[in-house]
Parts: sequence; structure tokens; C-alpha cells
Amino acid sequence: MPMPSVHSAVPSSSRSRVDLHMHSTFSDGSLSVPELVARVADTGVEVMALTDHDNTAGVEMAAREAKRHGLRLISGVEISSVWEEQGIHIVGLAMDIAHPALQGGLERIVRLRDERALEIARRLHGQGLAGAREGARAIAGSPLVGRAHFAQWLVQAGHCQDTQEAFQRYLGRGKPAYVPSDWIPMVEAVGWIRSAGGEAVLAHPGRYKLSGARLTRLLEDFRAAGGVGLEICSGSQAAADREHLGRLALRLGMAGSVGSDFHGPHLGHAEIGQLLPLPDGVEAIWDRLGVTVATPFPSH
Ligand code: AMP
Ligand code: MN
Ligand code: MN
Ligand code: MN
Repeated sequence: MPMPSVHSAVPSSSRSRVDLHMHSTFSDGSLSVPELVARVADTGVEVMALTDHDNTAGVEMAAREAKRHGLRLISGVEISSVWEEQGIHIVGLAMDIAHPALQGGLERIVRLRDERALEIARRLHGQGLAGAREGARAIAGSPLVGRAHFAQWLVQAGHCQDTQEAFQRYLGRGKPAYVPSDWIPMVEAVGWIRSAGGEAVLAHPGRYKLSGARLTRLLEDFRAAGGVGLEICSGSQAAADREHLGRLALRLGMAGSVGSDFHGPHLGHAEIGQLLPLPDGVEAIWDRLGVTVATPFPSH
């Protein structure tokens, strides 16, 4: 899935006090949880969610760190799912992370990811590149190995100039080492989040490049499954998507969320809190969660 540097369209002066999508070293982020939370505090964000891919191992530590910095932490996760052969990411917020339906599901994904990593490495080997599995595992240093770790290994091993090239040549959709993460139907992922008492948000809808009709169908299916929100402002989709996503949210009665999808400094991703405000009239997901923020988007 391409991850262009789209956040440049959001002026760095555009700051939000809420950021409900970011990654730590518990998935493919480059900052440890304490480093990440300290950075969140520095940016002026007051309400955060840690949303690592397919695991919640960092959430308790993040809650402790957030408390130290006087921040409000909402528990989070970003689940890899599939809808009509399209990989779809679902952000879960405010769940009881100890709930067995959620943890049972996530453990299944982490095991399947491990098998996928083996297959990615096998394919890279077929391209004449040996040692990818051990390399990516060492970089991940956590149970979750993803394409971002393979991309870093490809750079470190001197096979690619940068991670963009790694995705373009090997890891991106349709490339020789691409293996989809199409294990869990979207409806099931939403179900785990709901069972755990949380709310499900469709991550970066603009990144899937769906036609208008297909996107509407996706949202209708998502809502029918119990999903309530969509990321209208995301560091990993074009800032220009905000308007039509806002209209869709209003039309379908869905709440809006905002999240940088921060993975680390210097990785070509958006900075924490570098987000435009929700369009007028769209209900904020944090209101629905009962989190009060006096001025979520300070004027400057
Ligand atoms: P995975 O869940 O293992 O398929 O990996 C998806 C992750 O890979 C995303 O969350 C991004 O962190 C990263 N990613 C996907 N596409 C790109 C890209 N073109 N350039 C850099 N990172 C990417
Ligand atoms: Mn990622
Ligand atoms: Mn994502
Ligand atoms: Mn993400």
C-alpha cells in the first residue's frame, strides 16, 4: 500500500490537541513508548491513542507515561483486516484491552503475521536476497513483523537506497515479495473491538483509492458491522480528502477522528498533532467517548 508523503499539504502550524493514531516500537514505529509519549507532550497534544498494528502490548506502559506527562490516553489498536479483497485498517479505541475476544483475535493475527514474514522472506530469497527473515525480526524486536521492518532491512543490507524504493521494488502491492495480510474479515475485526467495549474507526479511508460508490459501500458495511467513525483527517491520506470524507460522515451519521499515523521522526510521515480540524458539523469521536477537550484545534 503506497504511503506517499502527503502530510506536507497540512501546514506544520496546523496543530491539534487530539491525535488518535500513532505507532511505537511495539509495531513499526521507531520510538519506544516513553520516547513517543514524551514527544506527544512536547507537541501540545493533550489526548492521544497508541494504535500499534495488531497488538496492544504497549498500551499499559503508554498509560503510565501519559499520566506522568499529564496527558489523557485512550487505549488503541490498528487491526489489519480485509473487505472484498481490499486490505482495510480498523482503529479500535477505548477498549478493555484485557478482553479475551480482542486478545484472542490479535494473537491469531500475530501468529499469521509470523507465517507471512516467512513467505515474504522466501520470496525475497527468490529475488536473490538472503537473510531477510532474521534481519527483519532483529529490527522489529517485537512479536510483530511487518513490511516496514523488511523495508528497513532492505536498506540496511544495502539492497535499496530507501524504504520507498523497498516498497516500490519488492514489498508494495503487486511486487515480487508482496504478501497480503488478508486474514481477518473487516466485520470480525469490528466485532472484537465492540466485544471489548470499544469503538471502531475506519483508518485513512482516502488511502485505499476506492471509487466513490465502492467507498460508500465500504462505509455502509462498516457501519452495519457496528463501526461508528472514520479518520477524516489523517497524516497518511491527502489533506484534500477531508472535505468529501466530512460530507460522507454527515450523510451516514458517522463520527470523525483525527490521527497523524506517526511512525517516527524522519520517516516521511506526518508529525504528531499536525492535523487539520474536523469539518464543521461533524461529531468528534472523542465527544462520543466522553473525552472533553476545551479547544481541540487551537487557533494560531
Ligand atoms: P503491513 O501491515 O506489514 O502490511 O505493513 C504496512 C505498513 O507498512 C504501513 O503501516 C506503513 O507503516 C508501511 N508502509 C506501507 N506502504 C509504505 C510505503 N510505500 N512506504 C513506506 N512505508 C510503507
Ligand atoms: Mn505501519
Ligand atoms: Mn494503516
Ligand atoms: Mn497506522
